[in-house]
Amino acid sequence: MLTQNLGYPRIGSRRELKKVCENYWAGKTGLKNVLTVGKYIREENWLLQKEAEIDLIPSNDFSFYDQVLDHSLMFGAIPKRYHEVISQKGNTELDLYFAMARGYQKDGLDVVAMEMTKWFDTNYHYIVPEFYKDQQFKLFSTKVIDEFYEAKQLGIVSKPVLLGPVSYLLLGKEKEAGFDRIDLIKNLLPVYFDILNKLKALGAEWVQFDEPFLALDLSEKQQEVFKDTYKQLRKEFPFLKIVLATYFERLGDNTQLAAILPVDVLHVDLVRAPQQLNEVMEHLPQKTILSLGVVDGRNIWKNDFVNSLVIIKNAKDKLGADRVWIAPSCSLIHSPCDLQNETNDEVLTPEIKQWLAFARQKINEVVLLSNLSEDVVSDSSLHQLAKNRQANEARRTSALIHNPAIKQRVSAITENDAKRISAFPARKEQQQQLLNLPLFATTTIGSFPQTAEVRSWRAQLKKGAITPGEYNKLIATETEKAIKWQEEIGLDVLVHGEFERNDMVEYFGEQLAGFTFTQNGWVQSYGSRCVKPPVIYGDVSRPQPMTVKWSAYAQSLTSKWMKGMLTGPVTILQWSFVRNDQPRSETCTQIALAIRDEVCDLESAGIKIIQIDEPAIREGLPLRRDDRANYLDWAVKAFRISASGVQDSTQIHTHMCYSEFNDIIKSIADMDVDVITIETSRSQMELLDVFADFKYPNEIGPGVYDIHSPRVPNREEMIRLLKRAQAVIPDAQLWVNPDCGLKTRGWDETQKALTEMVEAAKAVRENV
Ligand code: GLN
Ligand code: ZN
Repeated sequence: MLTQNLGYPRIGSRRELKKVCENYWAGKTGLKNVLTVGKYIREENWLLQKEAEIDLIPSNDFSFYDQVLDHSLMFGAIPKRYHEVISQKGNTELDLYFAMARGYQKDGLDVVAMEMTKWFDTNYHYIVPEFYKDQQFKLFSTKVIDEFYEAKQLGIVSKPVLLGPVSYLLLGKEKEAGFDRIDLIKNLLPVYFDILNKLKALGAEWVQFDEPFLALDLSEKQQEVFKDTYKQLRKEFPFLKIVLATYFERLGDNTQLAAILPVDVLHVDLVRAPQQLNEVMEHLPQKTILSLGVVDGRNIWKNDFVNSLVIIKNAKDKLGADRVWIAPSCSLIHSPCDLQNETNDEVLTPEIKQWLAFARQKINEVVLLSNLSEDVVSDSSLHQLAKNRQANEARRTSALIHNPAIKQRVSAITENDAKRISAFPARKEQQQQLLNLPLFATTTIGSFPQTAEVRSWRAQLKKGAITPGEYNKLIATETEKAIKWQEEIGLDVLVHGEFERNDMVEYFGEQLAGFTFTQNGWVQSYGSRCVKPPVIYGDVSRPQPMTVKWSAYAQSLTSKWMKGMLTGPVTILQWSFVRNDQPRSETCTQIALAIRDEVCDLESAGIKIIQIDEPAIREGLPLRRDDRANYLDWAVKAFRISASGVQDSTQIHTHMCYSEFNDIIKSIADMDVDVITIETSRSQMELLDVFADFKYPNEIGPGVYDIHSPRVPNREEMIRLLKRAQAVIPDAQLWVNPDCGLKTRGWDETQKALTEMVEAAKAVRENV
């Protein structure tokens, strides 16, 4: 049984790529160094997979920024605005590439970056290909060919990985009207042919096409294009061996389609969708090999060998050993690099560590599973199997994981726990009486600038250079300054500024039971940005209040209303590595109860406006339309559990970052918050139309300025946006606030922009 890998993390096990790229962008290191580090990471990854005895090792899975952008450059899909970058003196292909990824501002040239969006339902972001009516493609960057050659020099005949042509087109966007990007396939295919010919000439035997869209809902036209495209590919290359990789979902109603595409190997994700195996096998033509994605590429748990071996045996019995491959479920770029880099027992205890596997360990698991499925199994493999059983058994029964009191509390939840005492109109009256806020009340989303100074205090605390007492004093002073300043400019509802928080999920994870952290468990989010998600390993509870002290302190400094600030259960879930031994909904409900306790404690401490951020609700939406209602059901319910423990007069807010609300507006309304703040300024308030059409009944704060840029908007712009909002939403429902938190901004621009915002609100208020 052969083994394959679909892709290996490319950030480097010490985030070498991040460091060198950021230095290069800052002008602190040269191109040569960047290329050297890239080469070093590729070699390290290849050799490590070779040593692990993976049969088919991927190439072209490396990227300096993003694999989709790599393809755009490869195919010469370079928007016109970048043409000048390449002709500017001294610029290389890599500079052009980075300009497309990050924008370019140098020597009088000022070009914005290409758009970035989430990669399916992951937290990875890709650069969206831009397509135009007269779009042509030609081989521009030879990266895939160069990297195949590079691996070959190391004695590895790799399997080049390419995004399949259909998925590549579907990932992009039409930048002008009058055509359908899928029709560009006829222009694009010749470039694939060109690449494949060159790879063949260099001795490539296998190539992997990633077609994740096969696991999504497809239109009839898209299905036809799939058939056509692969037929043509096959016709052109009768002997090339093709792996067609699907992941993140079941093939579902595309099973038949995927099975009949003329490829040699079909890869399916059996972690996300184990139930699809039998159906896929039934449809698989006689000669096609099935690659079983049994090792989870998206989570950090050690594989359960006993379980995987059952799956493999099932496939082997039906298809025969030579038609079965073993693989991770998807590319390992969604896993941290190497568990061996976790060396601090206090951060990650040995008991929990033995339950985990990062990319490097997953590679070994794939190989071991294949060895264990042979007819004759070596003693050392059997020994590994025994160890794996032990670890998983230890995890199943660990007292660290199971807390009967929490399970009991979850099972005792009633409908009423997810309901406020009264409906919104009655609450609104009581809140108005208590809070006495003006029309167009002004507020912010929570965070104020996390300056280098504030971050350095945290670093010093961690190193022991300052005491917790000193740290708290510094944060308290910063908070006090922020409050004084908000009072001065006349904001209506204040925030404490979140200076004490490292991150909106980590801060809570650190205080909740059932969470742990890693030292080096970095995963690429986009470009050089990496995140280190917390690990939820056990039943979640809140041993003690998490934010009450800071919020109460902040409230004590002002006679204005102070808004309490929490992260919601769905977002905490979504941005963590989540346990896989119970449904996500169960874990989410546990988190919801913990947040509920915090909400109630804030209320008792005199905080009468509480915001529960849920920026990740939309991104948790399942890829398949049929699965969405169920998700929305439990996600909204979890939110409501967290928010519903308070009196009618306590005002609950939520905040969501840029989201398409079209297909989820009913669920957003079901959350029944008193006030929702959303990101709308870049869409010129267009996003509000969904709320207007739905007749969204509660209050809403459409962001009036974009916080993602240092640019300071003036009051006229904001007044214009507010008027647009007034045209579709009644005045009594409107709030005035920025698009999102201000932690990434500097103080100067923040103060200027918010002063303008308060003036804009006043002006609009005077006109009603
Ligand atoms: N309260 C958070 C902040 O202001 C919200 C951030 C977010 O929505 N991503 O930073
Ligand atoms: Zn936001």
